[in-house]
Amino acid sequence: MKPILVTGAAGFIGYHVARRYLDEGLEVVGLDNLNDYYDPALKQARLDRLADYGNFTFVKADLADREATSRLFETRRFPLVVHLAAQAGVRYSLQNPHAYTRSNVDGFLNILEGCRHAGCEHLLYASSSSVYGALAKIPFTVHDNVDHPVSLYAATKKSNELFAHTYSHVYGLRTTGLRFFTVYGPWYRPDMALFLFTRAILAGEPIKVFNNGEMQRDFTYIDDIVEGVKRIGAHLPQPNPLWDPRQPDPGTSRAPYRLYNIGNNQPVQLMRLIEVLEDCLGKKAVKEMLPMQPGDVPMTYADVDDLAQAVDFRPHTPIEEGVEKFVRWYRDFYRV
Ligand code: NAD
Repeated sequence: MKPILVTGAAGFIGYHVARRYLDEGLEVVGLDNLNDYYDPALKQARLDRLADYGNFTFVKADLADREATSRLFETRRFPLVVHLAAQAGVRYSLQNPHAYTRSNVDGFLNILEGCRHAGCEHLLYASSSSVYGALAKIPFTVHDNVDHPVSLYAATKKSNELFAHTYSHVYGLRTTGLRFFTVYGPWYRPDMALFLFTRAILAGEPIKVFNNGEMQRDFTYIDDIVEGVKRIGAHLPQPNPLWDPRQPDPGTSRAPYRLYNIGNNQPVQLMRLIEVLEDCLGKKAVKEMLPMQPGDVPMTYADVDDLAQAVDFRPHTPIEEGVEKFVRWYRDFYRV
């Protein structure tokens, strides 16, 4: 059996995706550079869990390292590559731009090259709702014109989509981009608002509420993301009979290139998220109200009709249920 490559396997989403494939008995090679963007102990704890599976192999490598990445593809054949490694975070990208071009642009190009030369059948990669910028038209669809990113993180994610389109059009590489909308759940990222709020509330410290709590996010529970990834991974983009790499592509419909939103289709105000969290923790938050930050957007809201049409699935976990599961994990993992 040929393995699936999951990049970013020590990360939040990569860990869950790898586990899902492992639970189904598939071989998984997980790759990560274990960077210190956040607590390395959390990444190690996720990896330790994955290492319990006999069908898991871990490769520590940096995708920005061209030789290391091409060696990986020379030594193994991967029918499916699920590329989740990236430098994440909107605000951090304003202070650390080079970390983003390194991992998200150079790293992504190395993945594309590896897939092309090794004859990978399908490259699935993480894009982000941030590519929509401050688009006023809601809900956001993958057919909207999104050329106005408001953070460098978003710009690198949009560049991934452009690079993927080029490889699909010129080389026939089957690529699918998934625009994830604010994912949350157990084994969460410590830089995300829900995690920061939980830690602060339990410690009796104030929480920073940006945009006076008025912003809305389409919070999407991790199990829904994993289900979407799993289904889309098995849904190969087919080229249109008119696709011809020697002719200009009039849109995105001819090359074997697809894009989908994966979001809950139900935006929640930040103040509502805080209420739900307070209920789950049985403790009130001390709120420090602050203005909107550069790079932030007032709202995210996913249209998922294309996803539903392609793979008969819509994310559906209500915020109350998802936050409760996150809090249960948090208390158990940190013993608080
Ligand atoms: P994460 O930071 O937890 O995981 C990313 C992993 O990639 C980390 O373990 C990191 O060490 C690894 N990595 C980074 N650069 C690397 C490199 N050059 N080589 C090898 N490994 C590298 O983030 P996450 O929340 O799991 O996000 C996974 C993907 O989904 C990312 O592409 C992210 O941009 C995207 N995304 C996430 C969200 C969300 O809400 N979590 C929303 C939209 C998009």
